[in-house]
Amino acid sequence: MTDTYLNLVNTGFTKKLAKQLGLPRPAVLRRHRPGAPLVPGPVVVLDDAASEKDADTVAQQLLDWDLDVRRHAGPEERFGAAVVVLTEVASPEDLSAPVLALGPVLKRLAPGGRVVVVSRPAAGATSPAAAAARQGIDGVVRSLAKELRGGATGNGIVLADGVAPSAPSAVGALRFLLSGRSAFVDGQLVEVDSDAGELPTDWERPLDGRVAVVTGAARGIGAAIARTLAGQGATVVAVDVPAAGDALAKVANEVHGTALQLDITATDAAERLLQHVRSRHGRLDVVVHNAGITRDKLLANMTPEKWDPVVGVNVMAPLRITDALLVSEALGEAPRVVCLASTSGIAGNRGQTNYAASKGGVIGMVQASAPALAAAGGTINAVAPGFIETDMTARIPFATREVARRFNSLQQGGQPVDVAETIAFLASPQAGGINGRTLRVCGQNMVGR
Ligand code: NAD
Repeated sequence: MTDTYLNLVNTGFTKKLAKQLGLPRPAVLRRHRPGAPLVPGPVVVLDDAASEKDADTVAQQLLDWDLDVRRHAGPEERFGAAVVVLTEVASPEDLSAPVLALGPVLKRLAPGGRVVVVSRPAAGATSPAAAAARQGIDGVVRSLAKELRGGATGNGIVLADGVAPSAPSAVGALRFLLSGRSAFVDGQLVEVDSDAGELPTDWERPLDGRVAVVTGAARGIGAAIARTLAGQGATVVAVDVPAAGDALAKVANEVHGTALQLDITATDAAERLLQHVRSRHGRLDVVVHNAGITRDKLLANMTPEKWDPVVGVNVMAPLRITDALLVSEALGEAPRVVCLASTSGIAGNRGQTNYAASKGGVIGMVQASAPALAAAGGTINAVAPGFIETDMTARIPFATREVARRFNSLQQGGQPVDVAETIAFLASPQAGGINGRTLRVCGQNMVGR
């Protein structure tokens, strides 16, 4: 689905007109392109004095990626990104100097620029003042993200106490957030729980040699996930209902994977999935529970025909299949499970009690399953998309759709590839230290919570 308004305000005569009329002008987002630079200009690394050592570690990492790194912002420079390291703040007073130093950098951030703040969780702080400082950073990140323009984004990485900025998932999250792969992730904090995980030998193909199942892969976000995982080296098993068989075969052929026609709510679904994986690929490393449906109705008019299938496809099937995977000998050594939640499951949505029950359910499922996946050497996480341009959202009536699409800091809907890139990150070896979490891909949707 295309966003005509976004195209109009970024081209020719209508671009000028929109500017003169003061209309909102959503920017064309900077997305990953092979061979393009990781960031669109020099990177400045700022810190409060106490966090200088961690800031040095981050700066060295950026230099290892051949980036042009500054430790102070010169008055005339333009920047591709700013990384602010605040891992050792002890009091809200410590925030003043580094945050105020960031201010002038924002004015000179390139289109598609990035701000990434590295901090620690308030829950782990040893004093109320340290907790206040740490929680204050959360507020700073979410606020500055709302101030950025030109398709720039602001996000945070929250490292559990004891996890160094050199941990694989800290490094992986930093690279992901700086890159065009995180184009529609805005105003979010990526929580790194441990130093588990491994850095890839090739950042373009971190999934080389992995076998990945993607459900609902015939179209929309699922097809984008199949393409993105395959592009990063995975062998993909594309799963969808028999009625979508032709489209499914096309996607599977395109990514040089295999197709499995399967209704994931069937009682023997897990068994058939495992049988296919064992006989065709020998093993399974990544499962993306993407298949999902909506049957919107106000609760006052809700029926079992609209409630039960939504819960059945969106959360009961992922619960059953994940249970079966965990006891299967086909599971690889560092398994990754990634589920599709939704911002509706976080903030609720009118007409979607059924969908929100299922997507809130997914968030609960990943939290509670994290220890079992960790015991198997793996992780389970969810991605919560906001408004994404797919057949699902094309069905929303025009006026409601236009409001939903603009109601985020980037003033546009995301593309299926934006969700796919975040899923690929969570499925990667470097994300092994992120477990039980839900990461929003919503352009900082104003969800009211
Ligand atoms: P879509 O309707 O375009 O595609 C969903 C796919 O899942 C279809 O190919 C469908 O055939 C398949 N599917 C449905 N039931 C199935 C079953 N029982 N067994 C196997 N396959 C089945 O949807 P989409 O917009 O690409 O959404 C993908 C996922 O992302 C869903 O879980 C959805 O809830 C979630 N999501 C989407 C958005 C959005 O804005 N599009 C926002 C938040 C969350």
